[in-house]
Amino acid sequence: PNQSLYHFLDQATQKYPDHQAVIFMNQQLTYCELKERVDRFATALHVLGVKKGDRVAIMLPNCPQTVIAYYAVIRLGAIVVMNNPLYVERELLYQLNNSGAETIIFLDQFQPKISNIKSQTSLKVFISTGISDYLAMPAMLPAPETQPVLNPPPGTDILCFEDLLQKNSPKPPEVELDFEKELAVLQYTGGTTGVSKGAMLTHKNLVANVLQTGAWLTICKEARERFFCVLPFYHVFAMTTCMNLSIYLSSAMILIPRLELNNLLKLINDYRPTIFQAVPSLYVAIISHPEVQQYDLSSISCCLSGGAPLPIEVQEKFEAITGGKLVEGYGLTEAAPVTHCNPIEGKKVNGSIGLAFPNTDVKIVEVEKGLEEVPLGETGELCIKGPQVMKGYWHMPEETAAALRDGWLYTGDIARMDEQGFTYIVDRKKDMVITWGYNVYPREVEEVLYQHPKVKEAAVIGIPDATRGEVIKAFIVLKEGQQATKEEIAGFCRKNLANYKVPRKIEFRSELPKSPVGKILRRMLSEETKQP
Ligand code: ATP
Repeated sequence: PNQSLYHFLDQATQKYPDHQAVIFMNQQLTYCELKERVDRFATALHVLGVKKGDRVAIMLPNCPQTVIAYYAVIRLGAIVVMNNPLYVERELLYQLNNSGAETIIFLDQFQPKISNIKSQTSLKVFISTGISDYLAMPAMLPAPETQPVLNPPPGTDILCFEDLLQKNSPKPPEVELDFEKELAVLQYTGGTTGVSKGAMLTHKNLVANVLQTGAWLTICKEARERFFCVLPFYHVFAMTTCMNLSIYLSSAMILIPRLELNNLLKLINDYRPTIFQAVPSLYVAIISHPEVQQYDLSSISCCLSGGAPLPIEVQEKFEAITGGKLVEGYGLTEAAPVTHCNPIEGKKVNGSIGLAFPNTDVKIVEVEKGLEEVPLGETGELCIKGPQVMKGYWHMPEETAAALRDGWLYTGDIARMDEQGFTYIVDRKKDMVITWGYNVYPREVEEVLYQHPKVKEAAVIGIPDATRGEVIKAFIVLKEGQQATKEEIAGFCRKNLANYKVPRKIEFRSELPKSPVGKILRRMLSEETKQP
């Protein structure tokens, strides 16, 4: 994979200049049009002073401007920093300051947030875009101006994205890049287990993971697919397996800027996508929609689920409704992200994240020191080695040294592998509870709680205890209209779990804290309990 993602765009444009590349609302861009826009925007960024190694923040939903900005930054050898538009000012400030971005490209409606914090950041260049302004541009862009005017309109310091596209030539400078060493994306982790860290992903990391995913999804064909892009590109899962894979396959991406569950079925019915990567909660939303039978979802042929465990009933029902294949994979930001997946054709194993990707080595080591491999079938920390594994965390040498040892990425996930290589995630190492000297994985206790007919959501943590080290505490959200006592829940756990795993404390809540991508934040619950 000794190239950059831009080469995929270049290749697709050469082979299929008139094929659809991007479909957005009632508009579309061919590969030729997309590449021209990317090149024009790269020229604009170059004229504005963006150079190799600079961090450029992007804060956009899934829209053509995101693809254009992302590929333009990569083309210049600068480094993309994707920002979650849902971030509040505090989170945004952390990410901007940690990355040291001096340029930001954002959707006009986020301007107040950015204006409020900009004096506390190193931001110097502000580029704003509006969905309607973008849609109002002609498909055929005007001839570029000989002397591009890059000054912001009077009375503001914000440049207009559409202006930059229309005024600049599609001739960015050539840039020498070492694809193996130089960064393409600084991608912040989800912050589920602690402070969010900037994973340094090189050009090679990203290209490798696109090639690996493409090789794995054998039923996907060049120039034939239509990707349904509803997962946000600011998350690395959609960035690699939707946006970048679509361009690698010279296929079309259908961009959905905002997830509206009520509209989802109609969009699939109307746009006829063939590929739909998502997280388990989205597949659940589809199969449990009361009107699912009224829509035609039969265009869907291939789906990859990741980010959290995919329940077997969900997989089977989704496959029955669409007639397509849905497989569970696994990954993490630090691996750009995919490392494992169930085979798309042939044997899948329920409850497993599947087999390691091509070119990906795996070992499972004892949890304490991480030195010795555990015997096959036993649990330990999952470690990965492969071309998709990051270079380290940005400006965090200690965290880097802990996560990367002898070229192995210590994932922080506890797993076991069977004799055929199928791997099963048990839980996160950081969340493991030690009570009476026994290791307890919260997920096992949560799974039992989820089987209780009145429980809607559950989260389990360990809380300090003078005699037992830690004891198990469960937080429970009951299903609407349901009532239950702590004794009833504890009794149910006693029937299904060894005594030391049974929660000693139970608390009912109306909701549980979640990350922007919907993962339950056990660490917030732990912090709350620590407070006096
Ligand atoms: P942080 O690293 O900042 O705590 P995060 O782990 O949520 O946040 P991501 O890189 O988005 O950041 O998520 C990767 C994690 O998601 C994995 O380490 C794993 O715990 C979990 N995960 C991913 N896929 C699966 C899966 N199929 N089954 C179970 N867990 C999964």
